[in-house]
Amino acid sequence: MAIAEAGSLLALKRRARKINRVLAEKYPYAHAELDFRNPFELVVATVLSAQTTDVLVNQVTKILFARYPDARAMAEADPLELETILQPTGFFRAKARNVLALSTRLVDEFDGVVPGRLEDLVTLPGVGRKTANVVLGNAFGVPGITVDTHFGRLARRFGWTASDDPVKIEFDVADLFEPRDWTMLSHRVVFHGRRVCHSRKPACGACPVASLCPSYGEGETDPVKAAKLLKYELAPGNEALLEQLLAETHRAAEIRMESQRRPG
Ligand code: SF4
Repeated sequence: MAIAEAGSLLALKRRARKINRVLAEKYPYAHAELDFRNPFELVVATVLSAQTTDVLVNQVTKILFARYPDARAMAEADPLELETILQPTGFFRAKARNVLALSTRLVDEFDGVVPGRLEDLVTLPGVGRKTANVVLGNAFGVPGITVDTHFGRLARRFGWTASDDPVKIEFDVADLFEPRDWTMLSHRVVFHGRRVCHSRKPACGACPVASLCPSYGEGETDPVKAAKLLKYELAPGNEALLEQLLAETHRAAEIRMESQRRPG
């Protein structure tokens, strides 16, 4: 590697790690936004989260897992009943088929237990590399980078990758960070994408990593106007929720669920 190239990689790494540190301070309460109590629930919830919101998936899985608590029960589910439960998440016929096939394969090949290896996970129907990494990182504690649409967009804006391909993005970003940081980095970047660095209107003027971001200026730079673009607990008027999340980071998932249930 040429000296100049090595120097710029080092500079990129330093800046990337600084961004991660700032995001860690900003979102100490970042976590997987899908609710789950075990690897089976997480793998199913992740499959259901395609083309819909985590909030909606969390509402549906509450009913789903009360009815079918594990792979064996789910493998024997009535397909029509399953479709009815999954309907709010969209593409419900395909999702019902995948969830049934996934549960059947778990029962037939893995004794009803979700395997903890990437090469086994990707053999499950409906489970690609992204879902496998979510499950490994969050249910098994194996470091993983989860490249969803938010992560891909922000990785490009940060200059961590030039690619649109999720696997290439994953490898490009993996080169910049220690494996121990991969899982939390994924949560933080996705949190930032949902709240601040939106796809069409990034709130650059209210962004904590503005001074480190090569794409600063792609969105609104006026601080007052940018603040109005912020979402969820950062949105104007949600100061009490933000304070609660910061004060009780260990209960963040619960607090988020409670706040979603509150009217208004
Ligand atoms: S400065 Fe703008 S483009 Fe960069 S991360 Fe912040 S909101 Fe996104």
